[in-house]
Amino acid sequence: MGPIGVLCLQGDFREHLAVLERLGIPSVRVRNAKDLIGISGLIIPGGESTVIDKLSKIYELRDLIRQLMSQGLPVFGTCAGLIMLSDRFTGGPADQESFGGLNVTVSRNAFGSQTDSFETTLNFTGIGKPITVAFIRAPLVTELGEGVEVLASLEDGKIVGVRQGNLLGISFHPEVTGVTEVHKYFVDMCKTANFVSSN
Ligand code: GLN
Repeated sequence: MGPIGVLCLQGDFREHLAVLERLGIPSVRVRNAKDLIGISGLIIPGGESTVIDKLSKIYELRDLIRQLMSQGLPVFGTCAGLIMLSDRFTGGPADQESFGGLNVTVSRNAFGSQTDSFETTLNFTGIGKPITVAFIRAPLVTELGEGVEVLASLEDGKIVGVRQGNLLGISFHPEVTGVTEVHKYFVDMCKTANFVSSN
């Protein structure tokens, strides 16, 4: 298996690199097209999806990432990363675009502003124990399309973790509270997919 790429355009990519290091998984910082060569998975961190959208176009990464996703590259989006993976989203400026791939609708900032950030403990399908994670200006999955599996919900039923084949998207930040299990889950997805990017 090749290293796991972390999209390092904006956001909390350092925390994701640190989790991969703790798990002993080789990683690569993705800033330019050449950084995608040889990776076996890609993490899109939390941050600001409007900025990640703009920078991914400026750095000519967007079309390549879309192409690799459609070829089977496993991609894990957290928070702003989930917005980037969603086929449809609400609450953004008219010119904001996503990579797409996940057949869901996501509502940006659905939990309120930065000061409404919170930590909570939730169950995640495939992880044997509850995990404590942070929600920071988090998006919410408001509509599920065909083929999408729910992996995590809040107690009130709000959907905060989904998977569709090689794509994994979560509303929250496990990397902020030191939780490594969701990354481990993604690494297992990458091992099973056994995909190595050639461009
Ligand atoms: N609200 C941010 C956005 O729309 C996401 C926040 C986050 O990633 N923590 O991009």
